[in-house]
Amino acid sequence: MHRAVRLSAIVPRGFAVDSTSSDDSGTVILVRPLSTASRCPGCGQSSDRIHSHYRRRLADLPMAGRPVRLILVARRFRCAAVLCERRVFAERFDTGVLAPWARRTTRLDHIVHHLALALGGRPAASLARRLMFPVSNDTLLRVVRRRGSPRFVPPTVVGIDDWAWRRNQRYGTIICDLERRKTIALLPDREAATAQRWLSDQPQITIVARDRGGGYALAAAKALPQAIQVADRWHLMENASHAFADAVRKSMRQIRSVIGAATINPDLLTSAERIQYEGYLRREEVNAEIQGLAKGGAPIKEIVRRTGHSRGVVRKILRGQRSDVFRVRESSLELYLQWLDAEWAAGQRNASDLWRRLKRQGFRGCLRVVSEWATRRRRADKADGALTRTPSARTLARLMTNGRDTLTKAETVTVAAVESGVPLLVEAREIIAAFQGIIRKKALADLEPWLDRARSSLVASFVNGVIKDRAAVNAAITSPWSNGQTEGQITKLKLVKRQMYGRGKLDLLQARVIGLA
Ligand SMILES: [Zn+2]
Repeated sequence: MHRAVRLSAIVPRGFAVDSTSSDDSGTVILVRPLSTASRCPGCGQSSDRIHSHYRRRLADLPMAGRPVRLILVARRFRCAAVLCERRVFAERFDTGVLAPWARRTTRLDHIVHHLALALGGRPAASLARRLMFPVSNDTLLRVVRRRGSPRFVPPTVVGIDDWAWRRNQRYGTIICDLERRKTIALLPDREAATAQRWLSDQPQITIVARDRGGGYALAAAKALPQAIQVADRWHLMENASHAFADAVRKSMRQIRSVIGAATINPDLLTSAERIQYEGYLRREEVNAEIQGLAKGGAPIKEIVRRTGHSRGVVRKILRGQRSDVFRVRESSLELYLQWLDAEWAAGQRNASDLWRRLKRQGFRGCLRVVSEWATRRRRADKADGALTRTPSARTLARLMTNGRDTLTKAETVTVAAVESGVPLLVEAREIIAAFQGIIRKKALADLEPWLDRARSSLVASFVNGVIKDRAAVNAAITSPWSNGQTEGQITKLKLVKRQMYGRGKLDLLQARVIGLA
């Protein structure tokens, strides 16, 4: 059966329509309350003794693509209670319909709130304008703030991690419900005490997944001594990789000497560099001679007498403090190498011309530096092997752990030189790979033998960390829970933070992130 739409069905519940009109800015509906009485906010007694009328202007849901304004003819009542201090009060409505002092109906306010949660301030404001209920950026943020953070279901399995407000400057803490895959709290810092306070309010938590930084482990142990802690698998893998990179960093002196010996091609050196290189070779020769004598049991005094070098030099050499590294000199050019390479590739081979143009870019060095570079380039172009410089520890660690078939020919030579010259690094690499295999395959039984084998390797400090955090590492291998999804939530959080255009105060951010998830 069809029925005509009654005007009262358009306006919020509890109001009757007196008249409608429209102007340039939209539809205006004059409404009055249906009730005959209201409760005094002072004493709670109902009164029907009208004192006076007044008008409230309210924004409501738009209709047929036009904004709607309600003009509510509201009343003031006299309070009849003898002992009540309020003589007169403004009438109150069901807050599900209209809150005291509100300038929007509750149903519009809900939409404004959701829009602000979903889109943040400015994008929400522009969508709201299109939807015909213009609200400002500030209003949107105010609505989010007023309504506060959505409540969450008390979690039993949580992941906790830190996240950067601003990289390297300010950090907060994020807590996720791993079962419901939702962010449930943002804390203003990453102090153990702050996390502890939050966790103590949630005694029902049974599992805490966290990274291996000590702070959260301590907080969880104090707040929830019964809970099982799970070291985060993602962080474990990451820490293991870092441990190998550290081992490489500590071995750099040895690495430089094996790479230098293997890859410097004297034919490619300029005359100035060749003089340095010859000096370097002479020093290496002396080093070898003196170390040989010492190995043969000769005391320092004897070595001094036989080689003619001073006591100080001999001592230095025996301590390994003069095992020098030959490096090609090009420091002042470092900043301009990219530009130079591009010019060279484009056919600009005239050193003095290049030098003049470099000076215009702020290069302070003299012509000789550039001509030496050009000479070396010319030779390198002719010969098949370029002059290799020792890669950084981080690069080397990456080269050594990447598959062989991804390396260039020069990289393969470098890696091979390191592997044969520094066998302890090969061992360390195997140990790290074995650990990552244990985590990946959840092979708890392999952990104990691994610890025994790894304890005396180059990555011993990583191994000690694992031993200290043993229970949580065991749990990481056996438990299905991991912080991996917390990482995902952090990504979402960063996205939301960016949308807030620097206005990401914690309460707003929290309301949006939790409201969204
Ligand atoms: Zn009263």
